[in-house]
Amino acid sequence: MLPGFETVWQVSELEGRVSLVTGASRGIGKAIALKLASLGSKVAVNYREREAEANSVIEAIASQGGGEAIAIKADVADTEAVKAMVEQVTDRWGSIDILVNNAGITRDTLVLRMGDKDWDEVIDTNLRGAYLCTKFALRSMIRQRRGRIINISSIAGVMGNPGQSNYAASKGGLIAFTKSVAREIGSRNITVNAVAPGFIATDMTDKLPSERKESVLAIIPLQRFGEPEDVAELVAFLASEKAGYITGQVICIDGGAFT
Ligand code: NAP
Repeated sequence: MLPGFETVWQVSELEGRVSLVTGASRGIGKAIALKLASLGSKVAVNYREREAEANSVIEAIASQGGGEAIAIKADVADTEAVKAMVEQVTDRWGSIDILVNNAGITRDTLVLRMGDKDWDEVIDTNLRGAYLCTKFALRSMIRQRRGRIINISSIAGVMGNPGQSNYAASKGGLIAFTKSVAREIGSRNITVNAVAPGFIATDMTDKLPSERKESVLAIIPLQRFGEPEDVAELVAFLASEKAGYITGQVICIDGGAFT
């Protein structure tokens, strides 16, 4: 982020709020968890298997000050695990005010070569996971007539991408899910929006071949890859009171590359 262009936040912007961020042990989810906590939110840091990384996020939140945090292991594609995770958060803190459906995976290959497992795992994590977390977290939001749901989609879900038909389908589905749920629950003062990042520097993109990275960089007007913190700033805005009249939207954050 350019110096002097940081968003000006009250450190207590999200005080008293409870957030659940899925896939928050690394990358974009970690940056979102740190940002929401820095604004005073209590944060549940969900992860699938990397316990040490999740615990280091909890430690980082404790050392930066702001809201408290807990780590919760749960596979977002597993109905019973998601139900138990949501119960753990509401039993501890009484509600869920902000849900960030961020957990996601890729299994890139051309559709002709794709195994059913590659298709199913991506759809189950990226789309079914968001559906399950939304369904169970909504109960608390509807009860308190207030809530923010932010779904981390992808530019691939907006434009499609060769070699990513499973991933693009999951992220495009997430956009349609976002718009539908926004219409269903707007009357309860709950907003639902999607964020569609372009190329963000995380473990997910680190594994791409260097020629692919160079060709993407060449078409980014802002001439750099995004950082997880760029996405976290946008998510924090959508989670805040400032964004109370924004719902059903897809906001691309891609350095101007694809939109
Ligand atoms: P990442 O670095 O690979 O991290 C993925 C996170 O998701 C990890 O915390 C991982 O937990 C968690 N996760 C994976 N499967 C899960 C499951 N079944 N249940 C619970 N947690 C699970 O990914 P990232 O780049 O930060 O991406 C975050 C989100 O942004 C994803 O939805 C991705 O599709 C989207 N996105 C990323 C980019 C990009 O350029 N990086 C662009 C567009 C959209 P463990 O650590 O325990 O494995």
